[in-house]
Amino acid sequence: MKICLDPGHGGYDSGAVGFGLQEKEITLDICLQIKALLEYNGLVTILTRDGDYAPGHLEGDLNGELWARVNLAEQNSVDLFCSVHVNSGGGTGEQVLVSELGGNAQKAANQVLPYLVQAGGWSNRGVTAQNVLVLRETSMPAILTENGFIDNSEDAMKLKDPKIRKALAVAHAKGICDYFGVQYREGGTDVLEVAVLLYTKEDYWSGTDVSVKNGNCALFIRPDDHSVPKDAMSAKKLIVVGGPTTNHPNEVLLSGNSKYDTVAAVANYLK
Ligand SMILES: [Zn+2]
Repeated sequence: MKICLDPGHGGYDSGAVGFGLQEKEITLDICLQIKALLEYNGLVTILTRDGDYAPGHLEGDLNGELWARVNLAEQNSVDLFCSVHVNSGGGTGEQVLVSELGGNAQKAANQVLPYLVQAGGWSNRGVTAQNVLVLRETSMPAILTENGFIDNSEDAMKLKDPKIRKALAVAHAKGICDYFGVQYREGGTDVLEVAVLLYTKEDYWSGTDVSVKNGNCALFIRPDDHSVPKDAMSAKKLIVVGGPTTNHPNEVLLSGNSKYDTVAAVANYLK
């Protein structure tokens, strides 16, 4: 099962603003957390953006960057598209949009919405059909969640609270798991800042020095099949001691062709 998470707005487009908050920052924070939770639950997850930029780096081109979101989902043949937004303009609470009622999109929306409402005691604005480009142009079931009103003081106070943002991320993940019939597994919410990954136990002594240099960060040893533990892969930065690249997006690779090369690479890093 593959999901495309779409943090609304980004880069040139802040989205709605209010009470010192920017929609683009809230949507990214929530989506990064949903991604970690879904991956913890074994679901493949891609993001239309993982930083403060317009998808496709099409800054200033609203139509282009909306299409970039759609195209990414299509190219990856995802099974569900989930766009995350914050509402504005008078109102309060949680709402989920679909392009038309009925079908799998509404089924997904119906699974997600009750969890959202519970994640901070929001009022329930229901599931609504709306003509939105990313919902209309995606061929897979697509939903768009509207998480509170940024220009409503009570909602904004909630959106400022990291605990409520985390609860909203968990709510999305639970609803998506329900939709796919996956039993939701608690945990996986504490994303490590940095982790060290060892190829074998033989790399332990070098690895502990690397961990100490990084504030005694978590240390993982690859199992016999040399796969990468999920919690290591979800760390924001991964320092690999020995063995091949993990293709982690923010990887420091301290490896050579032999264990002596690895020791030398670690010594050089520790200098
Ligand atoms: Zn928005």
